[in-house]
Amino acid sequence: NTPDIATPVRTQAILNRYHLLAKKSLGQNFLTDVDVLHQIVDVANISDQDDVIEIGPGIGGLTEQLARSAHKVLGFEIDDKLIPVLHETLSPYNNVKIINEDILQANLPKIIKEEFDSDHQVKVVANLPYYITTPIILDLLKGNADFDAIVVMMQKEVANRLTAKPGIKAYGSLSVIIQYLNDAEIALNVPRSSFIPSPHVDSAIVKLTGKKELKPIKMDQDIFFGFVRGCFAHRRKTLWNNLKTLFGNDADVKKKVQQVLDQLNIKPQIRPGKLSIDDFVNLANQFNVDQL
Ligand code: SAM
Repeated sequence: NTPDIATPVRTQAILNRYHLLAKKSLGQNFLTDVDVLHQIVDVANISDQDDVIEIGPGIGGLTEQLARSAHKVLGFEIDDKLIPVLHETLSPYNNVKIINEDILQANLPKIIKEEFDSDHQVKVVANLPYYITTPIILDLLKGNADFDAIVVMMQKEVANRLTAKPGIKAYGSLSVIIQYLNDAEIALNVPRSSFIPSPHVDSAIVKLTGKKELKPIKMDQDIFFGFVRGCFAHRRKTLWNNLKTLFGNDADVKKKVQQVLDQLNIKPQIRPGKLSIDDFVNLANQFNVDQL
């Protein structure tokens, strides 16, 4: 009766046997709290109706728990050294496939078509490498694959930014972009002591569920997101100042900005961090930002 991969004793034994040192440069912190893993599987509500994409299986601790509940698990691991380890640790599970590839380079819609049948929901579950949390999430959301849920562990500070509401310090362009597309919530906080080696920060598990209907924008999504980033470029300055930097300071531009703000009943002196997602959508639509 072999203990779970993620128990501290077995994780340490695997690392020793393969002479592995966790690579900081790849964000390798292995979860060694089986209760937390069960909770991740619960939050993602994984059943045999689900196919799962896991980013960075590491030595397989989370993969194992996913494989016990899911229909199929597809893991993307960038580190060649971990591939033979995963083949051994996950050998009891015939519903797991590991791909030795950088997730940021992967053509997910193509791989999903090849590896999954279309009878199951597709979810992403991962204990993310913290050095590229934001690029991975934005990449997942931008790609053309549709996920039924994304449940990912990240550093607490980033989780706070993804889920922050207007008026809170952590609220910024990332909060607006993520929450324009998704309902976002922190499902669970996880202390640094749950990992080997322990990271320097605490962590949290965020659940993203894609919105069924997006508020319509009159421009390309990337242009809208660029506009939002522009509004937050100097977050301590007023909206008016940020818009001036974005659009220029000509008299007719100023007049147009004043008109739009009046129309939307938004005070020019407000800080961008107080505006709701709807406010940003309305502003972008009124300014026709792709024509500027
Ligand atoms: N899933 C394991 C666990 O929970 O214990 C390991 C998680 S560890 C925080 C992050 C994992 O992501 C590491 O195994 C690392 O090698 C892998 N990784 C880092 N960058 C990656 C990338 N660009 N694509 C795929 N995997 C990556």
